[in-house]
Amino acid sequence: MVDATPASCLFCRIARGEIPSRSVFQDDEVIVFHDIHPAAPVHLLIVPKRHIDSLLDAEADHQSLLGKMLLLAPRLAKEQGASDGFRLIVNNGTGGGQEVFHLHFHVLGGPRPWRQMSIGR
Ligand code: 5GP
Ligand code: ZN
Repeated sequence: MVDATPASCLFCRIARGEIPSRSVFQDDEVIVFHDIHPAAPVHLLIVPKRHIDSLLDAEADHQSLLGKMLLLAPRLAKEQGASDGFRLIVNNGTGGGQEVFHLHFHVLGGPRPWRQMSIGR
């Protein structure tokens, strides 16, 4: 599903400010906030404000948005203290372990060890 901005979608609601988040960046297209259950000292979620279920639904029209999201990852990882690198994870569909069906990039970094969880295995 693309752009339906479902009323009940968790990340659409966070993007609209209806549910609070610890955001570190936002503009008209993207919001970035801390994961509520961090798996690493730095664990950010880069989320497009328009609703896209996952990369399985991405289209040519999303190219610049996806590029912006990719370029935000190293910048915000460094700003938030992941000074020596970061991991970028995108879970897509149930087979990919996705739990929130609104596209998001996980940015993980900071001093190890990191908590083991389903992402990043
Ligand atoms: P997924 O498994 O879909 O790739 O990841 C979903 C992520 O969203 C999980 O890491 C989970 O901790 C995070 N998450 C779920 N609900 C909330 C919430 O209400 N606020 C924030 N900030 N993160 C959430
Ligand atoms: Zn959504």
